[in-house]
Amino acid sequence: MVIAFLSGKGGTGKTLFSVNLASLVKDSVYMDCDVEEPNGHLFLHPEILNQVPVNKIIPVFDPDLCVGCRQCVDFCRYNALAFIHNQVHIEGSLCHGCGGCKIICEHQAVRETAHEIGHIDIGKSNKINTMTGWMNVIEEAATPIIEEMFDHVDKTKLVFADCPPGASCSVMACIKNADYVVVVAEATLYGQENLKLILELLTEFNSHYGIILNQSNTQDNPVKRYIMERNIPILGEVNYELELAKRSSMGEIVSISKSRYHSMFKKFLYQILKEANYE
Ligand code: SF4
Ligand code: SF4
Repeated sequence: MVIAFLSGKGGTGKTLFSVNLASLVKDSVYMDCDVEEPNGHLFLHPEILNQVPVNKIIPVFDPDLCVGCRQCVDFCRYNALAFIHNQVHIEGSLCHGCGGCKIICEHQAVRETAHEIGHIDIGKSNKINTMTGWMNVIEEAATPIIEEMFDHVDKTKLVFADCPPGASCSVMACIKNADYVVVVAEATLYGQENLKLILELLTEFNSHYGIILNQSNTQDNPVKRYIMERNIPILGEVNYELELAKRSSMGEIVSISKSRYHSMFKKFLYQILKEANYE
């Protein structure tokens, strides 16, 4: 079963929850899908056992066959192509590998080649399995790396997928591969606006989800009001606590190191698995 941890914005506590909850389950998988800046490894320090490269297919242009009609350049919606000095040039980081330019070329001047955009580290950290996706610097397409991670992961295990922030294609890749979604929300007005976006997406995908309210102990909590008005299931709340913030910022897995937090995260785990109908 895949449980995906999402938020409308960064810094709400997705990694805090996914790392601490995964650490409570023997032989679970912690999967860091935030491939632009994965940070779960700072808590787990996994031993890397295998590294899988991730490629995308990009076009290569044959100057001997190209007649300079520029149809491919006009076709590319991602502005990855330019015709300069009588040659087609490609900016590989902008290419989405759709294959359209190859199809549109009537002169067989386009062939395709593999271009590495990142890799997946597969490892082990104490009793849990880890997968970390990394996107190469200057690349822009995170989704193929995330899709490859979901293709590789053993879904018979309990998988805790730490997803990217926002509501982009890479987040959608996580949603469509998840059996249950935990949205970690932050009690601010900005948090509320981002939460709305993610809830719209979840409705679109008809996803099964619940919400954890992080830093819930503010005087005025617009997010809690918003959620309660709509009868959205709340999985639990965590108040802001300096000790938890300090320990986590040092990369401590508090669900293992401190009995008080162990009980707190155990309760969350129980509630999530119950809502997700995990047997
Ligand atoms: S469509 Fe084919 S022939 Fe025309 S510019 Fe592109 S590669 Fe060259
Ligand atoms: S494969 Fe698609 S995205 Fe890439 S250059 Fe060709 S048309 Fe553009």
